[in-house]
Amino acid sequence: MIQHTDIAIIGAGPVGLFAVFEAGMLGMKCHVIDALDHIGGQCSALYPEKPIYDIPAHPKISAQDLIDNLEQQAAPFSPTYHLSQQVIEISGSAEEGFQLKTSKDTQLNCKVIIIAAGPGAFGPNRPPIKNIQNFENHSVFYSVRHKEALRDKNIVIAGGGDSAVDWALELYDIAKSVSVIHRRDHFRAAPDTVEKLRKLASDGKIGWYVPGQLADLEGDGTNISHVVIRDDENNLKHIKADILLPFFGLAAKLGPVADWGLNLDRNHIQTEISTSATNIPGIYAIGDIATYANKLKLILTGFAEAAAAAHDAYKIVFDGKALHFEYSTTKGVSPVHA
Ligand code: FAD
Repeated sequence: MIQHTDIAIIGAGPVGLFAVFEAGMLGMKCHVIDALDHIGGQCSALYPEKPIYDIPAHPKISAQDLIDNLEQQAAPFSPTYHLSQQVIEISGSAEEGFQLKTSKDTQLNCKVIIIAAGPGAFGPNRPPIKNIQNFENHSVFYSVRHKEALRDKNIVIAGGGDSAVDWALELYDIAKSVSVIHRRDHFRAAPDTVEKLRKLASDGKIGWYVPGQLADLEGDGTNISHVVIRDDENNLKHIKADILLPFFGLAAKLGPVADWGLNLDRNHIQTEISTSATNIPGIYAIGDIATYANKLKLILTGFAEAAAAAHDAYKIVFDGKALHFEYSTTKGVSPVHA
């Protein structure tokens, strides 16, 4: 089924979310698509707990709280989110309307496209284990969304960065067992958390397979029974496991965005600074993916670009109608109807 909207926003990072609000304030309805299974872009995927200090009027706010607030700010405008799918194709024009297709075959017709795709679509770095895809979302997870779902499970955590260390510390007292695998005895996480983890290992409270590498998964095809680990001398160990959490980071791929005929500058989309317009009328780019002279890659810069894009898009969405500028204090926030 083809769905219709005023604006399709590619990317549900902080800047894409704020674009929903800016568009909504001008009476425009948005659909938002993201490759990840959750909104929030880099903030939620890479550093949800970290405090951000340079969001205006927030002396300190965690990255996830910022996303939660942006979601709440956009909510009156009832955006439709299409998650876990990548936009793979766009066609059409501002005159006739754009068509957009995703990897899950969602089809959208829209008048304007705003690309807020950051460094590109995020996906997990997968460990090189054959058939791992079959276990994904059953017993292999690349992020933890509901900690309680892991209660009383035998959990194997692989990786040496903040996510691996933080989740091992977070889960060991609710899980049946937690085992940590890392290929070398050097962790890239915050030193104090690594110390806490080493203490748990030396007290025998968690399994410690360092150095060790993931070699194989055993199970019924979707549910794991054992994780097989190879040590430095090529010995294999079979660890009883219900859940594997490989935390090897996320890879971002510009992917199909590169093929849409937009003027690019080293994997970024060139835009006109005052409007966020690209070289294709009706397509805008904002946030980390947009570039112009002296661009600052900051969330606050992206917010201003979102406002500029929404104001410029108004004339396309409303067929040349002049925009009567009003402050939010005058206008208030009233819902947009489909
Ligand atoms: P992103 O947050 O990158 O989101 C883009 C989204 O688009 C992603 O979710 C991606 O999956 C999706 N996407 C891309 N292509 C497609 C496609 N084809 N189909 C579907 N979805 C797609 N900035 C600050 O201002 N202050 C800070 O203190 C700060 N600290 C940081 C700390 C760390 C550790 C990191 C990594 C970054 C930090 N940043 C900070 C930078 C900030 O996070 C980025 O500037 C911001 O996330 C950019 O937002 P965005 O919405 O443009 O893109």
